[in-house]
Amino acid sequence: MSVLEVREVKKVYGVQNGDNTTVALDSISFNVEEGDFIGIMGPSGSGKTTLLNILSGIGKPSYGEVYISGKNITSLDKNEMALFRRKHLGFVFQEFNLMDSLTLKENVMLPMILDKRDKEEMEAKSEELMRLFDIDHIGSKYPFNISGGQQQRVAVSRALINDPDIIFADEPTGNLDSKSSNAVMRCIEKMNQERNSTILMVTHDAFAASFCKKIIFIKDGAICMEIVSTGVRKEF
Ligand code: ADP
Ligand code: ADP
Repeated sequence: MSVLEVREVKKVYGVQNGDNTTVALDSISFNVEEGDFIGIMGPSGSGKTTLLNILSGIGKPSYGEVYISGKNITSLDKNEMALFRRKHLGFVFQEFNLMDSLTLKENVMLPMILDKRDKEEMEAKSEELMRLFDIDHIGSKYPFNISGGQQQRVAVSRALINDPDIIFADEPTGNLDSKSSNAVMRCIEKMNQERNSTILMVTHDAFAASFCKKIIFIKDGAICMEIVSTGVRKEF
């Protein structure tokens, strides 16, 4: 079973058959398997945001279905979707979306706190992830006095803490300088390689995309090209 199955997804904005309609996505289909690291690229206006919103349950397609771990998420109502997101999906955003009033460790634990999980389990899990991403020594600090790269590594740890079926990353390097981008992409690569996490990342950034195992290009709402990585990346 595929982790993510996108079947003939079409999205039309505006009144159907009205004058001001935009076909943002036109019959998009693809599958994502466990352990995949997929990049979605395409010019501005090509439909990337619309697609990511539909895949992560924020938006509904006009036609077609999205299955995550076999569950048809397009049929879920708002409350069911909120629960599904919390239990099955992880998110990494361009803006790190950390809570300023919580310590870094509390930020990492937040999805488990919301899930009312056992305290010892939360402690162990957050410490393990923060060690993996080399932020365990700053767990008691607050988001405003650490670097952008460190904030994004907190966000990556938080995305992983509930063992999501798939992680959606929206321009994770969009706000970072090249050094921090490098550190964050190494973390995302690490979560794919060492934890076999399944990742779908939307990006404009060729450097970030070079980490993907497969890149899907979209143009005018349709898939126009796919590149499968050879795994050979020459860096200077
Ligand atoms: P990208 O993320 O690749 O820049 P978007 O998904 O934001 O692309 O947009 C795809 C197309 O849909 C564009 O033509 C955009 O103008 C249009 N669009 C996006 N959101 C809306 C909306 N809420 N209402 C109407 N049109 C929209
Ligand atoms: P949104 O996701 O809100 O639709 P986009 O990610 O499409 O926004 O980006 C907004 C604008 O910034 C677009 O005009 C896009 O061309 C530009 N942009 C963002 N990142 C890059 C980048 N790495 N290289 C070139 N242009 C970029």
